[in-house]
Amino acid sequence: MHAVGIVAAAGSGLRLGADLPKALVPLAGRPLVAWSVDALRAGGVAEIVVAVPAGQRGAFAAALPADVRLVDGGASRTASVRAGLAAASAAADVVLVHDAARPLTPPDLVRRVLAALAAGHRAVVPALPVVDTTVVVDEAGVVSDAPPRASLRRVQTPQGFDRAVLASAYAGLDPDADLTDDAAVVRAAGVPVATVVGDERAAKVTVRHDLDLAEAQVAR
Ligand code: C5P
Repeated sequence: MHAVGIVAAAGSGLRLGADLPKALVPLAGRPLVAWSVDALRAGGVAEIVVAVPAGQRGAFAAALPADVRLVDGGASRTASVRAGLAAASAAADVVLVHDAARPLTPPDLVRRVLAALAAGHRAVVPALPVVDTTVVVDEAGVVSDAPPRASLRRVQTPQGFDRAVLASAYAGLDPDADLTDDAAVVRAAGVPVATVVGDERAAKVTVRHDLDLAEAQVAR
């Protein structure tokens, strides 16, 4: 099975309060994106494409191994992954899409996703139970629904797909669509999405507190 990894790294550092792209923010002295690329590699993904913010290729090239391919990302995560997918080698049977913002993803999680694809699933996401009661609110912030917690899951990356299935789902998607993950793209095309057990260590770095937690994790 030939796997290609697409790393979405074209986001800004706005919510982190950083003055450089989030993927370049250092964790224990190394940019987040370098950690995320390492995680995919350690889990068995040889070929990697990284979608970077426009105008930032030089900075990303300096932060990553020379054999990582860089493409310009887009205004939304969906557009960035679409650009990465277009650059992925056609020889790949499967694609793993990963957030650069999940630096400490254990290689075992990558291997679980690959194993589920090898077992025949066409779309696979890592998922974890929800521990807080989770509600839906209306525009005024008033709770309008409280779905039963037992059926809810938090979805992480890397998300794995049969390459042809993901490419065809993106081809059929509205060019302006802005979805929060790639499972939503294939689900919109009617493809069932399987789950494997996620890992708390694959948490996404979004705000400063997440980075503090990641620093503590590395120090341990
Ligand atoms: O904004 P959020 O944290 O959900 O972003 C998840 C991932 O998508 C991040 O790694 C970010 O760099 C990436 N992204 C992207 N292109 C965008 C916006 C976000 O590649 N336009």
